[in-house]
Amino acid sequence: MSATVLSSLFCRLTGTVRLAWFAPSAAIVLLPALGGQPALGAACASKPATSIVIVLDVGHTPTKPGAISARGVPEYDFNLNLARRVRDELVRSGFTSAYLMLTQTDDEAGLKERANRANAMGADIVLSIHHDSVQQKYLVPWFYQNEEHFYYDDSTGFSLHVSPENRQFGDSMRLARILGDQLLARGLTPNLIHEAGNPIGAGVPLIDRARAIYRRNLAVQIYTNMPAVLLEAGVIVNRQEELKVATPAYQSLIAAAVTTAIEKFCNSTASAAYKVVNVAADDVLNIRSGPSASLAIVGTIPPDGRGVRMVGSCAGQWCEINYRGTKGWVNRQYLSSEP
Ligand SMILES: [Zn+2]
Repeated sequence: MSATVLSSLFCRLTGTVRLAWFAPSAAIVLLPALGGQPALGAACASKPATSIVIVLDVGHTPTKPGAISARGVPEYDFNLNLARRVRDELVRSGFTSAYLMLTQTDDEAGLKERANRANAMGADIVLSIHHDSVQQKYLVPWFYQNEEHFYYDDSTGFSLHVSPENRQFGDSMRLARILGDQLLARGLTPNLIHEAGNPIGAGVPLIDRARAIYRRNLAVQIYTNMPAVLLEAGVIVNRQEELKVATPAYQSLIAAAVTTAIEKFCNSTASAAYKVVNVAADDVLNIRSGPSASLAIVGTIPPDGRGVRMVGSCAGQWCEINYRGTKGWVNRQYLSSEP
């Protein structure tokens, strides 16, 4: 069976693991280029709701529609229906700059195109909307309306996926945690099937067990300048869950969770905290006056420094920070978000 068919049956493989399969060095190639990047716009905390640009990235395309449900419905249809309901709820709640992003371009080119479009729109938040499956070999055949389909009933619930290569990873994690809390508060269950070591799911690092947040290598998030989270809203190869996630009631729960999460995320004044990494014990991390190692040193952070706050934009690898009152720029390869 070709990789194309495999990926169409297993949502998780599209644009994530596949990147590694087809280009072993993709993780390095995909990192944003050094320098030359425009500074980012203001974070959503400083904007009225009507001006906060929210991009709802509808996963997959009409021609490569992602996973196929237990009753033969393409994932893309689920993604589009849910994204529409989330958009409507956001607009109704005052987020009038919430948009659906539909993509016709397949494969990696389409994933880059999504990120480029979100960047060009000056989006404040990107939420990619997907529905989940399992590895193909665990799918079980059955007949529904006299046609053979495939199901797996032992996977259930939502999961959230974030990429450390995203330029606003700290804020992406913060948004994922807030969204996870909102989903849990509405009775949804975290799906832990993708945890490394479990062959049935994607087999990736689990960052936050309570909220089913996984660390991923997602092109849309790597290339985007703003906080970006991917939501797997439910498991459509699960025969019961497939029916549930298609109901307006379930979609409304998700829409309300997303809307409340974005309200809380943008209303919070606390930006993500970072700690220093990859600096030798007898060295320091220099804070520069601008986004370049050739600019003046305005302060230093010890190798075990914590509580570094991102306070503005990033330009390539350089980000504006505040460390104990000293503002300036540091190279983000020496920062890691604190849990
Ligand atoms: Zn998908």
